[in-house]
Amino acid sequence: MKNHHPVTPKEERLAQILAKIKGRDFRLTPQRLAILNILAASEDHPSVDDIYKEVRNRFPTTSIATVYKTIALLKELNEVLELGFPDGSNRYDGHRPYPHPHAICTRCRKIMDPEISSVDELSEEMKKKTGYSFSFHRLDFFGLCPECQKNSRK
Ligand code: ZN
Ligand code: MN
Repeated sequence: MKNHHPVTPKEERLAQILAKIKGRDFRLTPQRLAILNILAASEDHPSVDDIYKEVRNRFPTTSIATVYKTIALLKELNEVLELGFPDGSNRYDGHRPYPHPHAICTRCRKIMDPEISSVDELSEEMKKKTGYSFSFHRLDFFGLCPECQKNSRK
């Protein structure tokens, strides 16, 4: 499992996604390109609604089905990481589509992903102790972000 991917600048990330989409039966409309752009650039893990609202600023006739369809294709191509939550408030990371740890604020829902070096060691230890061969991991840390900590102290 590779964990130390460099963080890709957004133009390069978009180019990677477009290269994967090439040859697929997927008409690249301006709306869909805008959705891909949002996913490639965004480091704040948008929800479908966030993406929908942002793309509607530029293309008011975009349907939410277009957002779902575009995300479904990226999921199929392993070009977006889906963070599913039991309440259905799924969030997406198209900037770093491979598994990595997330810090999730339970109050404002802000999600951060710092580069954590010990994930490799953890994977190794898991492998050693279970005999499993892992292809994927999900590591979420839940709590309060610095801003929500400040606000709760007031
Ligand atoms: Zn917060
Ligand atoms: Mn992330």
